[in-house]
Amino acid sequence: MKVYDGAMKFCPYCGTPLVELYEGGRMRPMCPAEGCGFKHYGDHSIGTGAVVLRGDSILLVERRTNTRSWWQIPGGYVEIDEEIQPAIEREVLEEAGIEARVQEVVGFRHAAGLQPERPVSNIYVIFKLEAISGEPRPDNDETFDAGFFTLEQIEAMPTVSSMSRWAIELVLAEQHPGFQLEPFREGLTRPGNTLYGRAR
Ligand SMILES: [Zn+2]
Repeated sequence: MKVYDGAMKFCPYCGTPLVELYEGGRMRPMCPAEGCGFKHYGDHSIGTGAVVLRGDSILLVERRTNTRSWWQIPGGYVEIDEEIQPAIEREVLEEAGIEARVQEVVGFRHAAGLQPERPVSNIYVIFKLEAISGEPRPDNDETFDAGFFTLEQIEAMPTVSSMSRWAIELVLAEQHPGFQLEPFREGLTRPGNTLYGRAR
């Protein structure tokens, strides 16, 4: 089985045409250039979303395309050189004007790369955050409205993303703590690494 056909033809580091070689149980595009060693495992990305609580209200943002609009929890992609916790706090501030602090991981969605023309895979990690300061305002670029809403209000809104709704219900029904950031420990975590696990 191949990773996929033809989506990447040249090495992104040295420009050499890639060849298909068997590695790790399947054929993959790999760079044959001496000393390069690039192997294309596919395009994996990481997204993150935030259930931000202020009292018992939750922060939602409105997104729009040319044809529709809907509400969801704020969030976005994690940059390649960015730790995930600052990334979600940054997205909440950018998209909704709210300064918030991560408390724990609520859950994640893994989307396997099933589109044959450009297979990408993505993990979307949802955090619970506590609002610290600020009043909701959209950025008028990716978000066009923002506000805190009670569960009752959210249930009456017709266009809330089903995954956002799922995460909000988990946070509000919380019985057990979610995964939490393990404090940095020499020999366990390395700079740039963050580790999350069940609370002890
Ligand atoms: Zn190369």
